[in-house]
Amino acid sequence: MTYQTVNPYTNETVVTYPFATDAELESAIAQGHELYERFKTQPIAERGELLHNVAAKLREQADELARICTVDMGKLVGESAGEVELCAIIADWFADHGEDLLKPEAIETIATGEAEVRHHALGVVLMVEPWNFPYYQIMRVFAPNFMVGNPMILKHAANTPTAAKRFCEIVAEAGVPQAALTNLFLDYDHVTKAIADPRVQGVALTGSERGGQAVAEAAGKYLKKTTMELGGMDPFVVLGDANMDDVTDLAWRVRLYNCGQVCTSSKRFIVMDNVYDEFLEKLKENFAKVVPGDPLDPKTTLAPMNTKRAKEKLQGQLDDALANGATLAYQFPEIDSEGQFFRPAILTDIAKDNPAYSKEMFGPIATVYRVHSEDEAVALANDNPYGLGGILFSGDPDHGAEVASRIETGMVFVNNFMASLPELPFGGVKLSGYGREMSHIGQMAFVNEQLIVKAAHPDLTNPAGGLVAI
Ligand code: NAP
Repeated sequence: MTYQTVNPYTNETVVTYPFATDAELESAIAQGHELYERFKTQPIAERGELLHNVAAKLREQADELARICTVDMGKLVGESAGEVELCAIIADWFADHGEDLLKPEAIETIATGEAEVRHHALGVVLMVEPWNFPYYQIMRVFAPNFMVGNPMILKHAANTPTAAKRFCEIVAEAGVPQAALTNLFLDYDHVTKAIADPRVQGVALTGSERGGQAVAEAAGKYLKKTTMELGGMDPFVVLGDANMDDVTDLAWRVRLYNCGQVCTSSKRFIVMDNVYDEFLEKLKENFAKVVPGDPLDPKTTLAPMNTKRAKEKLQGQLDDALANGATLAYQFPEIDSEGQFFRPAILTDIAKDNPAYSKEMFGPIATVYRVHSEDEAVALANDNPYGLGGILFSGDPDHGAEVASRIETGMVFVNNFMASLPELPFGGVKLSGYGREMSHIGQMAFVNEQLIVKAAHPDLTNPAGGLVAI
């Protein structure tokens, strides 16, 4: 796989980049390590100022960045612009809060003296990122780790190289030392080589189980810290007393946003019997209203998928689902375009042994299930190998929150769409991975939580000091 921008709307190969060399990798690690040493004595507040500069620079360059993202992977240009703004919001938040979050924490103890945990940087961190949010995925890792003082090396997806390159250039243009975020077009062997290097102390991956397993295996071998943000088959649960205007207004959007290529897309609609027919009819109507076209045209509402390969994979999954007995309740009409469009589809009657029941379909296909009780809804939501996010609609938000907390995922939003914001922890359980990005939790992902216990003298009369010295 080479690093290439191939516009999925025109199929034009816009640019091809060579792989990074051994020397480039060595230089990035060496410079990163040197910067880590320098960061140790730099006041955190100085990095906060630089991060605010990054936010300002991103906003200044938003149009150019949005266009690059759309040409790289096809998303609607309005969605690309929203992603750039979200990156700026994340940068501003960590710039404002990072220093406070990293303050030492005092611990009450029976040990002699005063105990506290200090939060230190670990060293160079590698990030391996996917194409579906080419900028946001970088910022989720970069902002907190920059505040901590961990320099980063970015290995982005092979099909979003221009977005990766430009993002890192903009960070440098904002005054951030170049070695704080180095984009390298690494092949898989280089990823393993980087993980093996003692100067690299962690790896953050967002992507599929395939990528996650390979990287976690290498990290396990070399005992490096990891966070894994992997796939999802998020449930969208509709209880019998839900406000159906809200439900129908949101359901199609959360499935078709970014052409359905979102880890937290609602991929399984689990709907109570009394509102099921209404739900399905409205979902069909709304799927039928999308406007396919040039993703750079603001009037377009259905974008192409990110690559021909992704489209072909999804078509195979749809064929497989139908061959295994699912009903095609709706599919958008033929689209007259050479672009990598996938016609949005709705599946029902998915049996437990159908691959569509438990395999993530990363594109505009909704699966809809009828249930007869809340317990059945929760059981179905949980009968899945993934556990990333979810949405639940209920006439009573408090009751909704109680049902939501029985769902085995890392995040659930009640009566609203899922919003990824810097103050909210993001991540999942089961095959969706482990660890959290963003928020006070994500801030600590790659930190040495060092205990310091300070005493004037040893005290052998203290039971904790006198009994066991471990
Ligand atoms: P992917 O194939 O795993 O790719 C993700 C990244 O991992 C890319 O940079 C890829 O590089 C790299 N990679 C893959 N295999 C590797 C290996 N053996 N060694 C080293 N690096 C490797 O994921 P994808 O299919 O493109 O992305 C979509 C998936 O990501 C979906 O499952 C989606 O749900 C998930 N996702 C999760 C989150 C979350 O926060 N939980 C967010 C967004 C997406 P190449 O491009 O060079 O192969």
